Amino acid sequence: MSVNVTKTFLPSQDEYTIILEKAWEKEWITNRGSLVHELESKLKKFLGVSNILATTNGTLPLQMAIKALGLKGEIITTPFSYVATTSSIVWEGCTPVFVDIHPEYLTIDETKIEAAITSKTSAILATHVFGNPCAVKEIESIATKHNVKIIYDAAHCFGVSYKGKSIFEYGDVSTCSFHATKLFHTGEGGAIFANNKALQNKLFYHHNFGHKGKEAFQGLGINAKMSELQAAMGLAVFPHLEKIIVGRKRAVQFYKNELQGFKQLKVRNETHWNYSYFPIIFETEEGLLKVQKALNTIDVFPRRYFYPSLEKLPYILSVPSIPVAENISETILCLPLYHDISEIELSTIVNCIKKTMAL
Ligand SMILES: *Cc1c(COP(=O)(O)O)cnc(C)c1O
Repeated sequence: MSVNVTKTFLPSQDEYTIILEKAWEKEWITNRGSLVHELESKLKKFLGVSNILATTNGTLPLQMAIKALGLKGEIITTPFSYVATTSSIVWEGCTPVFVDIHPEYLTIDETKIEAAITSKTSAILATHVFGNPCAVKEIESIATKHNVKIIYDAAHCFGVSYKGKSIFEYGDVSTCSFHATKLFHTGEGGAIFANNKALQNKLFYHHNFGHKGKEAFQGLGINAKMSELQAAMGLAVFPHLEKIIVGRKRAVQFYKNELQGFKQLKVRNETHWNYSYFPIIFETEEGLLKVQKALNTIDVFPRRYFYPSLEKLPYILSVPSIPVAENISETILCLPLYHDISEIELSTIVNCIKKTMAL
C-alpha cells in the first residue's frame, strides 16, 4: 500500500475518448471551442455562479486579476498559502505585505488588515485556505473604507458556498484551480470569476492576447486559454463529482472522529464546505516530524501544506511579525484524502498516528 496526500481522479479512458472525438470531428483543439463552452456552461450551473471564464491553470488568473484591476504598490496577503499567491503579486511588479492568519480558520486575520494598510496599498489578495472562506463581509467593509480592491485565491474552493452563495461570487475577482491534484480537475486548468461586467470583459481580452477578432487588439493580453483537450478531461470528470464529494466526506468524517485529540481545521459557520483537505495541527514540530516519519515508514505520504511559510521565499525582502502563520506552517500536516481512499487505509493511517503520539 502506498498512499499519497492526494490522488488524481481519472475517468475511464473510454469516457475521455468519447468526448475527445467531438474535437476530432471538428478538427478543433483550442481557441475556445465547443468543449470549453460546454464545460463553462455545466460548471456555471453546478457552482451557481453568474459568470465563469475557463483558463489554462489557476495561476494566470491571479496575474490577470492584478493586471486587470490596475494594481500598483502594495498588496496585502498572507504567507500561509501556496507559492502562486505571493509569486503572482511579485510577478506583476507589486509588493506583498504579509498579514497574519487566524489560528483556527487559517485564513487572513481580518482584525489585523487595517494596521497594514498604507497610502501605497492597492488591494487585498487573500486565500480561502483549504476551502474555508475568509471573513468576506468584514474584508469587504475594510476594502470599501480604504478604497482598495479584493482578489480571492479560491484555488481550493470548488463547490464551496458561503452564506447561501458560491464563494466565487465574493470579492472583485475570484480564481480557482483545476490542477490534477485539486477536487475537480482538467489536468491543468482553472477559472476566473468577476462580478462587474466591464471587468469580465477586460479579463476575457486579457486571457487571449487582447484579440478583438483576428486583426484588432483591445489592450494588453496574455495566453491563458483553456484548450479543448483540457475541457474534455473536465467534461469526463464532471459526471463523477457527486461521488467524489461523497467519498471525501466519508473520509473526513472518519478522520474527524478518530483524531479528536488533535487541533483540526475550524470551518466557518454558514459554509457549505467541499472536504478538500484534512489538516491536523500538532503542538510542536517535533511531534509532526515524528508522525510524518512513522507514516512514511508504512508508505503513507502526508504533506506539509503550507510549508515553508511564504515569507521565507528568497525574493521576499522585508518581513513583519507573523507569529501565527509561522507557527501553523511548522505544525500542520495534511493527511491523505481522496474519494476512494479505503477504510483499511484510513484506519491504518489513524492507528499509526495514535500509536506514534501515544494517544
Ligand atoms: C493550486 C493552487 C494555485 C495554483 O493553481 P495552478 O492551477 O496549479 O496554477 C494557486 N493558489 C493556491 C492556494 C493553490 O492551492
